[in-house]
Amino acid sequence: MGDGEDLTMDSIKQVSIVLANYCPHCVPFSLRNAERMAKDFGVPLCVLDIEIPEQETVADRLVKEYGDWSEDYLIPQVFVEYVDGRVELVFTGFSEVVSVTETAWYSLFSSDYYQKRRKVRPTSERKSLKEFVKTYLSFNGYCRRHCDDPTSLLSVWSDKENIVGAYVCPSSYVSRVIYFSVKPDLDWFKNFLASQVGEEIVNNRDIRPATRHGWELRNNAADEIGDISPNNKVQEVYWTIYPKTEEAKNQGVFLCSDPKNDRGCHKLFVQDIKSPNTLCPKCR
Ligand SMILES: [Zn+2]
Ligand SMILES: [Zn+2]
Repeated sequence: MGDGEDLTMDSIKQVSIVLANYCPHCVPFSLRNAERMAKDFGVPLCVLDIEIPEQETVADRLVKEYGDWSEDYLIPQVFVEYVDGRVELVFTGFSEVVSVTETAWYSLFSSDYYQKRRKVRPTSERKSLKEFVKTYLSFNGYCRRHCDDPTSLLSVWSDKENIVGAYVCPSSYVSRVIYFSVKPDLDWFKNFLASQVGEEIVNNRDIRPATRHGWELRNNAADEIGDISPNNKVQEVYWTIYPKTEEAKNQGVFLCSDPKNDRGCHKLFVQDIKSPNTLCPKCR
């Protein structure tokens, strides 16, 4: 695809995927990715299962004419079909391990080819990282080590691409801090924590990253994660303190807040775990 060839976006008619249900390269993730692709291009998806005779006939014709044909051809194969009759093969599954096929999908999604054809959803429909976290990465839970009350995820700090949140009980005790970002900077996070609670209690061992894909989250996460992440992944970096000494067990991390009276600087601070203060010394 050369430059200046981007008039094609509106003329895409449909996306087709040739697959088989038994194939681990096809189902579930290639099928889901093809669904996403059709949605991003604003066209229907045609699923052709080679184990269903009438679909196989159409699939064979498509592969023979436009795809990677052989007697026992590779699947999945994904095609973009245009209104003017043109058909492009855009994806063929790898013969190697499944993870190779999976990685290839990410490359396709972040490619110029893909981004040029993608119908940009109106800004009003696109989620920000903050909205995405609120909708899909905020969970109900209970306080640990401190009380049995329910916790909620409150913002500690954020900019457009990074959010630091904390699960906090009604008494402001923090059971877990989470840094959400598409490209987290772990050193930055460590320094951020240390600047609020002191270096002594921030250990590398207690900082643990986790990758979140759209498909493991609820509802429309798989469709909407593309709004914030070109490779459809968001990282969560957890900081949960596991006290290593008796003395440390008597200390707790709190978030300076008092929602009822709209007070507090929303910074983390350390105090005796039994203390009733919900505000840091400066804000009291
Ligand atoms: Zn608590
Ligand atoms: Zn404060």
